[in-house]
Amino acid sequence: MIGGISMKEMRAALYKEDNGEYIIENVELIEPNANEVLVKVIASGMCHTDEFGKGIGLPLPIVFGHEGAGIVEKVGENVKDIEVGDHVAFSYAYCGYCKNCISGMPQYCEHFNDINFGGVGADGKTKLFQNGKPLSMFFGQSSFATYSTINASSVVKVDKDVDLSIIAPMSCGIQTGAGAVLNTLKPSMDESIVVFGCGAVGMSAIMASKVARCKRIIAVARKEKDLILAKELGATDVVDSSKVENVAETLKELTNGGVDYAIDTTGNGNMILNAIKLTKYNGTIIPLAPSGVIENFNIGQDVLMEMRTIKGINQGDSIPKVFIPRLVRLYKEGLFPLDKIITKYSFDDIGKAKEDKDTGKCIKAVLVMSDK
Ligand SMILES: [Zn+2]
Ligand SMILES: [Zn+2]
Repeated sequence: MIGGISMKEMRAALYKEDNGEYIIENVELIEPNANEVLVKVIASGMCHTDEFGKGIGLPLPIVFGHEGAGIVEKVGENVKDIEVGDHVAFSYAYCGYCKNCISGMPQYCEHFNDINFGGVGADGKTKLFQNGKPLSMFFGQSSFATYSTINASSVVKVDKDVDLSIIAPMSCGIQTGAGAVLNTLKPSMDESIVVFGCGAVGMSAIMASKVARCKRIIAVARKEKDLILAKELGATDVVDSSKVENVAETLKELTNGGVDYAIDTTGNGNMILNAIKLTKYNGTIIPLAPSGVIENFNIGQDVLMEMRTIKGINQGDSIPKVFIPRLVRLYKEGLFPLDKIITKYSFDDIGKAKEDKDTGKCIKAVLVMSDK
């Protein structure tokens, strides 16, 4: 108990200093209030956004992790749609009262950055402490831990017959790539798409393009093993950008002049310019990496005169309580074989998981905290 509030002892991976390693230690977690639930974390994906979070000046120590999944242990009295024992994924946090939230677009919550990148839970306060001292949270959940107290609005009930280590990464990286295709672009079956980068987000976009039955799905990446897998997951054509001299020309030839849609997950300015120039009249380009400076970019020539759209989106335009159950169903029907891009690590091996993720040895690292 601290100040009359009950706390739960648990283990969490602490990030204590700039460029430091993750260190698993005992911490205290506040038990849920009326609008929250307590979840035993079974698995958590590792996503590049955790790395992004290290550079935004949040007070340290912090517990990262924002692709959690687990089993509900306690439910606040106001929570209507979640019960003890439910299997759940937990996604981004949002305020629930701003104009975008009440218009049905929580992914564009006006307080999104304040909450998810503000070191706090959805109620504006941290739920994590160590020896009574506050720790920063991430995405309102801090899932690199054995438990999470999280606002019920971010918690998605999922089918119990799917491994929670498959479900965990759907909460951010997977819904970002799949949602860009299925929620934002909504391509027709006679349309074409190019995806730059074959990490977890790019592979998800490729699998989703196959679900949408796109006529041409072109994957562009630098590693042969990734391109082989991209083909297995649905790419109709692949281009190894490390082997061709002029990526833009190669793609133009391959596509008879261009594609309807382009998604960039590389954050590389040259690739983004390739993506823009490769789309046909009135095509749409979605950049999904939070970087990418384009030199000598002529917006009049390359956007207006070609009537193209460059669209910034968040979380694949996903409303998690709607979209994650759809992804789970696609997975169960064999139409979204997410297990093929996942490598599992035990929680204690978080350092190795990060290393393998950073070096591209694995596509999607998922930490497993508990068997059940
Ligand atoms: Zn909001
Ligand atoms: Zn993420």
